[in-house]
Amino acid sequence: MSLKERDKKHIWHPLTQHKLHPDALPIVKAEGALLYDDEGKEYIDGIASWYTAMYGHCNPYIIEKVNEQMRTLDQIVFAGFTHEPAVRLSEELIKILPNNQEKIFFSDNGSTANEVGIKMALQYHFNRGEKRNTIIAFNDGFHGDTFGAMSASGLSVYNGPFEDFFIDVQRIPTPNKENFEEVIKELSEIISTYNVAAFIYEPLVQGANVMHMFEAEYLNEILQICTANHIITIADEVMTGFGKTGKNFASEYIENKPDIISMSKALTAGFVPMAITSCTQEIYDAFLDDSVGKAFFHAHTYSANPIACSVAIAGIELLASEEIQKNIETIIKSHKEFDSKIKKHPKIKTTRQQGVIYALDLNIEMDRYGKKRYEIFNHFMEHGVCLRPLGKTIYILPPYVITKDQLNKIYDAILVLLSSL
Ligand SMILES: *Cc1c(COP(=O)(O)O)cnc(C)c1O
Repeated sequence: MSLKERDKKHIWHPLTQHKLHPDALPIVKAEGALLYDDEGKEYIDGIASWYTAMYGHCNPYIIEKVNEQMRTLDQIVFAGFTHEPAVRLSEELIKILPNNQEKIFFSDNGSTANEVGIKMALQYHFNRGEKRNTIIAFNDGFHGDTFGAMSASGLSVYNGPFEDFFIDVQRIPTPNKENFEEVIKELSEIISTYNVAAFIYEPLVQGANVMHMFEAEYLNEILQICTANHIITIADEVMTGFGKTGKNFASEYIENKPDIISMSKALTAGFVPMAITSCTQEIYDAFLDDSVGKAFFHAHTYSANPIACSVAIAGIELLASEEIQKNIETIIKSHKEFDSKIKKHPKIKTTRQQGVIYALDLNIEMDRYGKKRYEIFNHFMEHGVCLRPLGKTIYILPPYVITKDQLNKIYDAILVLLSSL
């Protein structure tokens, strides 16, 4: 039996209506920016496997570091124990995070990183004797699929059956030049009506929301108002973190720094899952007490797994390297050149770019997971390019190690698509 057939016997895939889409494509090998299927056909990974494998698949430098770590220490309970990879990772991260960040808390994935951030914010107020139970989030944001993170997410395509079970979330639109005053008015109304504990947001780019982008100066004002009202600000940098916006973290573009930052995805470079929630000294201090009850009683069995930490340290070293920094600049520049060539195309409605993230909206109406979307996906795969359109939005978020030739192949596949529409 082929891998495809064996898959169908026992496997339930994420985000998949198996009745409509019974087949999953077997990938047997990956290297750099390339994926190989079970028939030997290769594909350029134009989205770095959901923004994780930014330093290239099976990066040899990371493999070497993981190998070393696996022979030394594989796993140890992180409650009451510690180890070099976790300590070293905390030191390296604090160096590159916005400089109000002081403490590092470990979990397993982007959803749990946000879950931790939300729980930290709620308990911060609780520990200080204040009852605050409402979270503010942007319309159409995406923060993950666990209950707290899902409640904060505004994409109904994921949330439908669960809405009755959500924590209390109030929403505001992402700000722009036209709606800014209205957004501030709505925000102020929410703040005066509810006991707001936290504001969670994706800084500058909403990944799952079709790579929607908005400007730092407006977000900065919102953060200013939140902070003035003692609302804990949580930057969800699960997607934007580690260089994708052109800086290590999107929060660097914004003057007001968040109290809490969640990270995952590129943190562990596509090798293993891990996540981190960082916070300020002030947040941490609110949990210090002679009473055990004020401690943060949240743990995951694999918290700060030493192998995952060794991957993350190697990833941060690569991110800081001259080679990767140069590649990031090259990708940013090529996207810009491509954009100036195609943005006036009659089949394109709008285009946008932030760092290595490039997105365009087609001038046709279609459903996020509709038939046309799958046709476009298949078009790219036939051209040896792995891109996952979000409805009518096509975006590129390539691994930093992608070559100029490979980038051009992606651009060409988009041009061919445009001329076929
Ligand atoms: C992917 C993502 C998440 C969820 O992360 P998982 O690891 O899939 O749980 C949360 N927030 C943002 C912005 C993301 O892109």
